Amino acid sequence: METYTDQYIGGSWQPSRGKEAITVVNPATEAPLAVVPAGTADDVDAAVAAARSAQRAWGATSPETRLGYLTAIRDGLAARQGEIAETVTAELGSPIGFASAVQAALPLGVATTYLDILANYEFTERVGNSTVYAEPAGLVAAITPWNYPLHQIVAKVVPALAAGCTVVLKPAEDTPLVARLFAQIVHEAGLPAGVFNLVTGVGAVAGAALAAHPDVDLVSFTGSTAVGRSIAEQAGRGIKRVALELGGKSANVVLPGADLARAVNVNIGNVFANSGQTCSAWTRLLVHQDQYEEAVAIAAKAAAKYAPGDPTSAETRVGPVVNAKQRERVRGYIQQGLDAGARLVAGGVDAPEGCEVGYYVRPTVLADVSAEMTVAQEEIFGPVLCMLAYRDEENALELANGTEYGLAGGVWAADEETAVAFARRMDTGQIDINGGRFNPLAPFGGYKGSGVGRELGRHGLEEFLQPKSLQF
Ligand code: NAD
Repeated sequence: METYTDQYIGGSWQPSRGKEAITVVNPATEAPLAVVPAGTADDVDAAVAAARSAQRAWGATSPETRLGYLTAIRDGLAARQGEIAETVTAELGSPIGFASAVQAALPLGVATTYLDILANYEFTERVGNSTVYAEPAGLVAAITPWNYPLHQIVAKVVPALAAGCTVVLKPAEDTPLVARLFAQIVHEAGLPAGVFNLVTGVGAVAGAALAAHPDVDLVSFTGSTAVGRSIAEQAGRGIKRVALELGGKSANVVLPGADLARAVNVNIGNVFANSGQTCSAWTRLLVHQDQYEEAVAIAAKAAAKYAPGDPTSAETRVGPVVNAKQRERVRGYIQQGLDAGARLVAGGVDAPEGCEVGYYVRPTVLADVSAEMTVAQEEIFGPVLCMLAYRDEENALELANGTEYGLAGGVWAADEETAVAFARRMDTGQIDINGGRFNPLAPFGGYKGSGVGRELGRHGLEEFLQPKSLQF
């Protein structure tokens, strides 16, 4: 087991100023994997000071210069795909196939999109008698969660660097190892000292110190709504910009005439991927009451194919959830749903067979879920699908929009026009039409309680820019 005692600050690995440590645990074996420092407010101060002293020079570099560095980061991500996938499998429990195809490949894909975006972005614009410059927002605090640990880092750090911002990253305590790997990649890319800094630590200490730091210009946070709210309140007091990517309770709506079997099968794959720990997962499946029992039967059959197992095996489709607390939380929700009258179609509260060690949860489908049940309203963040029946299209819309969240969704219909008309009335940030594929260039972010701002693509770059107008 490796023990690390250093933070990446000002272009080098230097000893953490604190004595506390975080033990990183493999959720499939419950065995300790590594120890990393639990950074202190002093570490955060040092990282912010390094980022501040690098800011003006980095912000003044040409887009071509930054493109050179970002190309080196992209190449580093490409060269280390295997190591990234293995690291995420070890610290998060993502099955190795999924870890390779998504946890490692998606950040590489996103970093690649920014090379093109940066190469073609117009940083100056003429508006009447003004020239408007798109200038960097300044010093960015990036605070990220554990569920897509490298993707969420890349989706913030790469566009921030492209914009000319400097960054202090505080990754989630459960997944600091892939964050350290990313810092090595940035280091090897040769960025000027202080442009990128990493402080590992717990949220309530290092995260809170970073979010509240007076010298931070913009806080970009992905995580829970509760923490997002407190970060936004602090940012408000400090007049700082804030970008929040929060939770979701996304609805997949199957309208009459759609390909029901495909819609249900795709939903099962969607909600069980990454053990259900996906903020944009379709955790509510809405089916017309006349087709409801047919949909339940299809879901039961599809769910039976998802037996949890060892995430290092290439055959495994569902690994454990991230930690013991999360496992108890997810099981608690399943029990709560059953107590409230939901019907168990697949899975259940008990540990899956053959998985006595590890933080495993049975992939679960609950039917006869009604809108007021807690399982229909709150984000479970585990492999649990809630199936709701609707009477007519208006009722389906009311159910789809009837949570505090609005991050993602799906609509399936006999034709695209019908699906698009319905999707336009949904209060949510991104919707897949008849199984449309994820697009890393499309803006990603939430309506309502799911957040503020957008990541990815051109919109993601613009989060880290601010306009300055010069009149002539
Ligand atoms: P979390 O809010 O507990 O933690 C997220 C990050 O914030 C971690 O780095 C944590 O250390 C830090 N943090 C915790 N308390 C803090 C504080 N007081 N001040 C500053 N930082 C603090 O969330 P989590 O449990 O790690 O992640 C799961 C949540 O993230 C889910 O709700 C999920 O929906 C959400 N999420 C959203 C998106 C999105 O893009 N919308 C993507 C992934 C995850």
